Formats: sequence, C-alpha cells, structure tokens
Amino acid sequence: MAASELAPLVKTGGLGDVLGALPRALKQTGVDVAVILPAFAALKQSGREFEPTAWEISVPVSSRVVQATVLHTELDGGVPLYCIDADPYFDRPGLYGEGGSDYADNCERFVFFSRAVLEVLRRLGTPDLLHVHDWQAALAPVFLRADAGRYPDLAAVRTVMTVHNLGYQGRFWKHDWHLLNLDWRHFTFLGLEFYDDINFLKGGLLFADAITTVSPTYAREIQTPEHGYGLDGVLRQRAGVLTGILNGVDYGEWDPRHDRHIAASYSSEDLTGKQQCKAALQAAMGLHVDPDATLLGVVSRLAEQKGLDLLEQIVPRLLQRAVQLVVLGSGDSRLEAAFRALSAAHPGRMATRIEFDNRVAHQIEAGSDVFLMPSRYEPCGLNQMYSVRYGTVPVVRATGGLADSIVDVDEAPGYGTGFKFGPASGEALLQAIDRAFALKRDELEWRAVMKRGMQADFSWARAALQYRTLYDRITGSA
Ligand code: ADP
Repeated sequence: MAASELAPLVKTGGLGDVLGALPRALKQTGVDVAVILPAFAALKQSGREFEPTAWEISVPVSSRVVQATVLHTELDGGVPLYCIDADPYFDRPGLYGEGGSDYADNCERFVFFSRAVLEVLRRLGTPDLLHVHDWQAALAPVFLRADAGRYPDLAAVRTVMTVHNLGYQGRFWKHDWHLLNLDWRHFTFLGLEFYDDINFLKGGLLFADAITTVSPTYAREIQTPEHGYGLDGVLRQRAGVLTGILNGVDYGEWDPRHDRHIAASYSSEDLTGKQQCKAALQAAMGLHVDPDATLLGVVSRLAEQKGLDLLEQIVPRLLQRAVQLVVLGSGDSRLEAAFRALSAAHPGRMATRIEFDNRVAHQIEAGSDVFLMPSRYEPCGLNQMYSVRYGTVPVVRATGGLADSIVDVDEAPGYGTGFKFGPASGEALLQAIDRAFALKRDELEWRAVMKRGMQADFSWARAALQYRTLYDRITGSA
C-alpha cells in the first residue's frame, strides 16, 4: 500500500486516518500487507524508531537519477512501514507545502515518490497487488503499465487506486512532463492531459485495475458533472471497475469508554461522564458552564467543501436559541476571520479555535450535544461516525458518506441516528438543527437516538473484508 499520510504519525485529514487503521484490519483478515510512505520530516521526528534498510534505490526523474534510501519500522499489529528517504524532497517542515502555499516542486516530489514505490516493491519481492491512495501515489500504476519496459519483473502486479477526495488531483503544468519520463503520446485527452495540464489522479484512474472511493454514494456522485471535478467522464468510462467502500472508525482511538483525551469516560449504559465532558469543554473554551444550553460542535478543515459558510450565515439566528457553538478548524483565511469575529461578538456563547489539535477534537466530540457537518460534498467523512459513538447527534448534509452513514430520525423513526438535509443552504441547515432541538425536548427520545448511535458499528473489520474481497477478485484468487 502506498500513500502520503498515516495517522498518528503524519496526517492532514481522513487519508491519514484510513492508513492508520486499514492495514492492520487487513492483516487481521489474513492479507500480508506493508505500507510505503515518503520519509517526511514529521515522520522522522515523531519519536518512533526507524532502522535503515540496506536498500539503495535509484529513481529516474527527468534526465537525472535520484538516489534514495529506505527506512523501516513496524506499526502496531505487525504491519511493516517503509519510508523513502530522499533528502531534497521530503525532509521539510510541511507535507505538501508551507504557509498556505504548495511546494513549487510537488510534481517532481511525487513523480519521484511513485517511481520509488515501484523500486521498493522489487526489493520486497513482487507482491500480488499494489494499492495506491490519492494523487500523491497515483502515478505508480501509470509507470507500471505505461513504462512497462522498465518494470518487467512487476508485470503481474495488479493495482487498486483509492480516491479519498476528488477535489485534490495533483494538477501541474505541462512543462513538468519531462519529469515523468513518459512518452508524449500519453499526454492527450485520452491520457494524463487535463485542460493542457498534467493530472496525476486522472492517470491513476485510467491505469489502475480497480478504483475505489470511500463511500457508495460518493462513488455514484463523482460520475456526475456536479461532483466530478472534470473527471466524471473518465469515471463513467471506468464505472465497471469503480466501487465505494465506506471507511471505518478506529475505535482504539475514538471511543468514550477509553478515550485518554477527555475529562471522563462514559458509555451507552452510563452517560454521566458525558455531562462532565460537556462542562469541561465549556470551561476550556470560555463558554458559560451551562448544562441546559445545547452545545453544537464543529471539527473541520475550513474549506469550501465543508459548507461552513452556510453555518456562518445562520450564526446570529442560531444564537437566538438556547445554544452554544464551538468550532475547531483551520484553513481558508476568510472563514477563519469570520468565525473569529462571530465568536468575539458572542462571548460565552460561541468559541472558535483556529488550529489543528487532535486532543481538542476528541473533547469536542465528547462534550457536544450536536455535531454539525454541512458539507457541500463529503467523500466519506469520519467525524459523523465519531460523533454517533460519542452520543453526539450529528446534523449532516445528505451527501457522500454522510448520506451512507447517518439515518435520519424523522425519515426512519425507531432507526434514526441523526438529522440530514438536502439543499446546500443556511436555511436548510437551520431547519435540520431545529428538528434536532424539537427532538431534544423529549429527553427519553433523545437518549434513545444517542444510544442507538453509540451502539452502531462502523469498525474497520467490515471495510477490510470488502477490500479483501476486491483484492481476491482482481488477483484471481477468489
Ligand atoms: P477530511 O479528510 O476531508 O478533512 P474527514 O472527516 O474524513 O475529513 O477527516 C477529518 C479528520 O481530521 C478527522 O479525524 C478530524 O477529527 C480531523 N480534523 C479535522 N480538522 C481538525 C482540527 N482542526 N483539529 C484536529 N483534528 C481535525
């Protein structure tokens, strides 16, 4: 498996969570899996011990040959991790950029990475299958097939490409094409060319033997112009090999029964600890410590995708109700400023933390009553699945993995775990939140919804079995 993030060592979002959990779950189903990552500075400084391997690899990048070494460690569950260490590329403070700008040589860095992955496969002794994630590793299946002459020993390797978010494609100007060492005939509309640029993800989608994305609904949505980001045509063309497998939750990390980051543990049988978590969160955030205020939580990248501008629009009206709002997130500077200003205007009622802080993310999941995810699109989304486990009722937009993982209380009485709304508007969000408030007045019903969510099972074991079935099918071992 090749990717660029792995929680908790290097993570900017859900991709890291998946790599942090799926390999171990796969191993438990009997798959012999190893993970390959770039040796980012963050990995080397994570405190984990790495041993050098004796492997010295040479990778063609344009007309140069770049030398690299490979570090090794063993992850929990006995999964080997190999990190490709090439000084000029990965030993930097950021993964993809710094100070809000991408590194100017990202094309070169990840061309190098994808080729280096193939060199590591050789050293590992030709595996049956290479599973790559997102644009950062998407060129590996491309090189394997489009440059097959260089990799005859890997000809039998089958490939799977997983798309975690179609909004990030690895798009670079065509003057970088020489870095790939591929024939120009692959730079066409039918190949890696995309509006006169190079598109890494498109390459992966075209050359992988199978494509997956992280929820069944998103697998359908990305075949439409609305959610296809220009690649819906390619995805329709490849619909026969495209499936959606909903991500799982790492309950070792995200479970209020044994979460070391929260003020008190609790479970669906005994919810008293949740009140303590709420009071602790209110105090830590500078909100009035008020058990009766309904506390709404948000943990999110502040990006257009996440629909937080819809929330921004309704904050003044929302705060006319007996609610408090806490927001943890970072990203878009306009949204950061807007949420900061709204919090300053509503002291004690609304608090915003502009940072990336895993501990606070856990505390918000545990301490909130309601969790908001008004995403415009959401490939899978993890926080809604974390929320239900913490008895924090999610209000979500019915898209992608949010549609697949949350059952609306009013649509399915007796089965519901949250509230869903359709239109991407502040009004629709507010209506869904009001439906939650209406239910919350009935304490027994509200508890029933909380408990149902807490008992739902989104464990990785289920997802791992689905991946295993796919692997078996494409390697012919089914
Ligand atoms: P995405 O990958 O699109 O950002 P997901 O819901 O799939 O969204 O995963 C987001 C992950 O990142 C979750 O584990 C969430 O808790 C975490 N996260 C997002 N923003 C922050 C933040 N500001 N601080 C801490 N964790 C965050």
